[in-house]
Amino acid sequence: MALLGCIADDFTGATDLAAMLVKGGMRAVQLIGVPGPHDQAPDADAIIVALKSRTAPAADAVADSLAALAWLQRAGCRQFFFKYCSTFDSTEHGNIGPVAEALSDALGAGFALACPAFPTNGRTVFQGHLFVGTSLLNESGMENHPLTPMTDANLVRVLSRQCQGTVGLVPFATVNAGAPAIRRAMTALKEQGRRFAIVDAVTDADLRAIGEAAENHPLITGGSGVALGLPDNFRRAGLLATTDATALPAVAGHAAVLAGSCSRATLFQIGNARDKVPTLELDALATPDAAALATQALAWAEARLGATPVVIAASAPPEKVAALQAHLGRDAAGSLVEHALAAIAEGLVARGVRRLVVAGGETSGAVVTRLGVRALRIGPEIDPGVPWTYAEGNAAPLLLALKSGNFGAPDFFTKAFAMLGS
Ligand code: ADP
Repeated sequence: MALLGCIADDFTGATDLAAMLVKGGMRAVQLIGVPGPHDQAPDADAIIVALKSRTAPAADAVADSLAALAWLQRAGCRQFFFKYCSTFDSTEHGNIGPVAEALSDALGAGFALACPAFPTNGRTVFQGHLFVGTSLLNESGMENHPLTPMTDANLVRVLSRQCQGTVGLVPFATVNAGAPAIRRAMTALKEQGRRFAIVDAVTDADLRAIGEAAENHPLITGGSGVALGLPDNFRRAGLLATTDATALPAVAGHAAVLAGSCSRATLFQIGNARDKVPTLELDALATPDAAALATQALAWAEARLGATPVVIAASAPPEKVAALQAHLGRDAAGSLVEHALAAIAEGLVARGVRRLVVAGGETSGAVVTRLGVRALRIGPEIDPGVPWTYAEGNAAPLLLALKSGNFGAPDFFTKAFAMLGS
């Protein structure tokens, strides 16, 4: 029976958290969207429900999160984690505060900590202020985010504005004194009637101490960093068997990469792969038709499929993206490419591809939806934040690596397959 039930406000954030838990020795399965009432719980120590609630209307985000919580409770989870972005992506009105408050109420928690720190990625919290590298959050570029501009680095203030209840702080001096001091501070804040506390953290050791201090909390909220300390709690309680949490079923079959991200890291990765493996670059401007692009790509791939990956990329540098957007409009351009890549993914799987890397967050969403994938068992990490996963309950056995555009080293596309062996 699962131990930890997690609710993530976006897809790649869910994977990031799942990878963190797997590294800590918990077998983890990520579910895409709220499972149905008759869906069986997977065999895992942690279940992560990936929602698309970060920028949804607050009422929808709350409703989906509560539905996910109710399902995770029925699956037997004993502790719950609300995962949001390590840059606290949210607006004046939500959705972190309203969702955290609703989950806390439903669990009768009374109090929950809030800690987005992820020092490995340069996100630290000091005296309640969030830093990205050496910059305060509101001077990090996040103040210009198109959907969730973060104009205040003081998270006590930010969360207070989003909540009915009041928000306290567990400052660095207390965190630095270790788990018992953090536990005492949180108890005192709860007794004062605080609903939440921002908890400072600047190192992984801080995150481990916070995790230990929250051992008996029904609800923990934060970035994936604060999950670092949680597996040890379950291990100390004798609830976690020491198996290899990263093990996935062996899957034989053809290999392919589909790229729809135009982020710099992905463009580098395509450039790197071009010299080593067959690579097709789609020209959506010349053929602005998803079905026709898919037919061309599948005809090209058919003769080349094998254990060596083929790469099919819609990705393009900014001037080419701008040209297609000028021709079709921004949304129509994105949706054309997403449709084409989703159809190509379906065609590749029908032709025996069983190991598939997808580059791009939205692109990954479109591909898993088209393939009907609803559960991913999380395996070994290829690069930080990007694990191999196994599509559970799928008709054909399938390994998927879903990469957020900016993630991964330049040789990601070849390294991913080399890691699997033959
Ligand atoms: P990332 O993770 O890098 O943000 P996404 O897949 O989330 O990548 O977003 C990339 C978006 O760009 C997708 O909607 C994709 O369909 C679109 N896109 C990909 N190639 C092109 C192109 N050549 N022209 C215009 N849009 C494109």
